[in-house]
Amino acid sequence: MNRVRINELLQRPEAGGEVTIHGWVRTCRHSKGFSFLEINDGSIIHNIQCVVDADVPNYDRDVKALQTGASVRVTGRLVDSPGKGQRFEIQAKDVHVYGNAEGYPLQKKGHTMEFLRSIAHLRARSNTFGAVLRVRNVMARAIHDFFQSRGFVYLHTPIITASDCEGAGEMFRVTTLDAGDPPRAEGEIDFAQDFFGKPTSLTVSGQLSAETAALALSDVYTFGPTFRAENSNTTRHLAEFWMVEPECAFFDLDDDVALAEAFLKHIFSTVLSECPDDMDFFNKRIDKTAIETLRHIVESPFERMSYSDAIEILSKSGKSFEFPIEWGLDLQSEHERYLTEEHVKRPLVLTDYPRDIKAFYMRQNDDGKTVAAMDVLVPKIGEIIGGSQREERLDRLQERMKEMGLPEEDYWWYLDTRKFGTAPHAGFGLGFERTIQFCTGMANIRDVIPFPRTPGSAEF
Ligand code: ATP
Ligand code: MN
Repeated sequence: MNRVRINELLQRPEAGGEVTIHGWVRTCRHSKGFSFLEINDGSIIHNIQCVVDADVPNYDRDVKALQTGASVRVTGRLVDSPGKGQRFEIQAKDVHVYGNAEGYPLQKKGHTMEFLRSIAHLRARSNTFGAVLRVRNVMARAIHDFFQSRGFVYLHTPIITASDCEGAGEMFRVTTLDAGDPPRAEGEIDFAQDFFGKPTSLTVSGQLSAETAALALSDVYTFGPTFRAENSNTTRHLAEFWMVEPECAFFDLDDDVALAEAFLKHIFSTVLSECPDDMDFFNKRIDKTAIETLRHIVESPFERMSYSDAIEILSKSGKSFEFPIEWGLDLQSEHERYLTEEHVKRPLVLTDYPRDIKAFYMRQNDDGKTVAAMDVLVPKIGEIIGGSQREERLDRLQERMKEMGLPEEDYWWYLDTRKFGTAPHAGFGLGFERTIQFCTGMANIRDVIPFPRTPGSAEF
């Protein structure tokens, strides 16, 4: 089809010539003798105004009947617009209606995010979600660009897994057994008869597989969906979310922290430079500090602090927190937010957490109490990255697995990497949706993914 995208039209140096655009009607006003149509095709947040004269042949039948949401093709001259706030408009000479939109639920304004979530199949046609999806796309490309330009290998790790990476047990079971009448052996469900011959789940992280690849290719990253059956109904948790997990051999915790900082800054500066119109929109409508915050972060170094120092700062803060602060307890999001929003007022990397609140694979520090872990905390969101240097010493790893009751048989292949040419290595996981939230200022994580999966909700 002969078609030009609206973003391309609006970037033209000057008006002139005949153009054909296709898109959806955002608003239409019919007055005596002509109609104004605002058309959007999703290529840019701005609409293009089309002025349709009543002498267009199908004016009475089609154009006057047009409703918000209808899909159209418009051909006409691109002219300078006398109206305010737009450079060009189209003087239509031909309008074709693909489909009208009687009863279309997405009217011009005033919809709540909750309502839009209930029409998630249509919300990409709203300004906010169009902008979110375009920014999401640019961020995905920025992520690939960052790693590809540094020689990392993009690794596709399995989504179905028989190992529980976090040891947290919050996994979705994958099975073809009949839930109503599973085969049994000695009273227990007989998973030997299941599809894979053993219990399997959707992955919570690609890390363990990524480690095996890093110990062959040196620098790898994954970027894919992960799943957590945690019943946390928060604005920062999804049951299905996308994670980016770089893993590097011959890398220690300091290298890991430096990589995380460079990585986040690259994503943020790319969004600032490549999404000016959408970021302007977020800055006006969603979060008045969005652009300033990103600029500030790109320009200033991240703060770094140990978990132990953070505990001391929190206990001396004079704040009353809902959850207790005590060395050895995990930090809650209220604590994380205090540290990053109020105490340092920028991204904060916390390191060296107590080993008892962290996963088995994290490298033990010499103090016998902490592990070489790092979390990156950002204002408004809290944790956006979780990472660590991995335990590369076979005996220490086996000791830790024993303490935590993890059977070696289940991890034989993981332990092999420590038997055959083990090497210091480190990596982290970035929550993609939390990063989008941070850039756009969107308050709820359900509103930065096309179709959110959360407890009790898998519609669309
Ligand atoms: P939190 O304490 O916030 O639940 P976590 O410690 O479980 O996070 P990790 O297991 O370290 O997180 O996962 C790495 C990253 O993945 C996190 O830093 C976060 O950005 C993201 N993440 C974790 N769980 C979720 C979730 N349920 N929904 C969306 N993103 C998540
Ligand atoms: Mn969690």
